[in-house]
Amino acid sequence: MVATLSPLLRRAAAFGGGVALTLGTLLAVPTAAQASTDYGPAAWVPASTSNYTNASRESDYNINYVVIHTIQGSYSSAINWFQNPAAQVSAHYVVSKGGAVTQMVREADVAWHAGNWTYNTQSIGIEHEGYVEQDGWYTEAMYQASAAIVRSVTSKYGIPRDRAHIIGHNEVPGATHTDPGSRWNWTYFMQLVNGTTPPSWTQTVDNTTAGRFTASANWGTSSYSAQRYGADYRYANPQAVSDAAWYKFAVPATASYRVEVWYPAVAGYNTSTPYVVVTTGGNTTVQVNQQANGGKWVTLGTFTLAAGDYNAVGVSRWTSTSGYVIADAVKLTRV
Ligand SMILES: [Zn+2]
Repeated sequence: MVATLSPLLRRAAAFGGGVALTLGTLLAVPTAAQASTDYGPAAWVPASTSNYTNASRESDYNINYVVIHTIQGSYSSAINWFQNPAAQVSAHYVVSKGGAVTQMVREADVAWHAGNWTYNTQSIGIEHEGYVEQDGWYTEAMYQASAAIVRSVTSKYGIPRDRAHIIGHNEVPGATHTDPGSRWNWTYFMQLVNGTTPPSWTQTVDNTTAGRFTASANWGTSSYSAQRYGADYRYANPQAVSDAAWYKFAVPATASYRVEVWYPAVAGYNTSTPYVVVTTGGNTTVQVNQQANGGKWVTLGTFTLAAGDYNAVGVSRWTSTSGYVIADAVKLTRV
């Protein structure tokens, strides 16, 4: 039965089980938004009174936690669902991928989001548009909007701005949910909450950047693909040799950096090109399919790099897959 349900209905089943619904009840027309009285930037669209508990926090319960959730659906689907009396779930705030915020339960009231009565009574619940298992939902705009809510409520209720008090749904005792999942960047989010985001820094090194790119004469030069970064790029046959092309960066501090690579994608190039990232924990290799996602920045991941001016990223020839390995451009961004 569960497999035939929409994500929202599956979610309801996961929360409460056995909630009988017709499709029509999901199609409530969104209410024209008013301003929230608890939090200025939010629109106010009240949840159904069937979906939360009236309270007088912090007279009857102290607010000690913020619980971070993922909707497993769209922003509008959550707003509609919490207005539906059959939902039997709610959250104080809903945040969209674009950074819009709707409040649906007053902070003084107890929203039903944590699946744990004690935690419900002591927390503010924030739902985020998207899916735990998909890339691309947790945007910069969303992190900024959500962190601003957390700054507001932590300051109002004296909640410590740490990970013991700002938690994921998965961290609620007894939780059967996994949200917000591994794609939620807690380090970055807590930096935003605490106002300790690092100074912005980015550096791009192309194969033609003077003094910052090295490759042996075994690496040819080509301008064959229009997806190249700059005038040209370098290519080499795969071989079990230590003959990497290296990109040198002036890393300003030992910190977290996002590593992105740019290459032209051509049928016949290597599907498993090894990019080597020199991290504080040793060299980490990320395989990239250079027949796909050409002509744009492709993220290898976020890594801790040591401060210094050194060869931080390389393209290795050491792969058993056939086809040229390509070395074009690499970008580091401090995060
Ligand atoms: Zn949740």
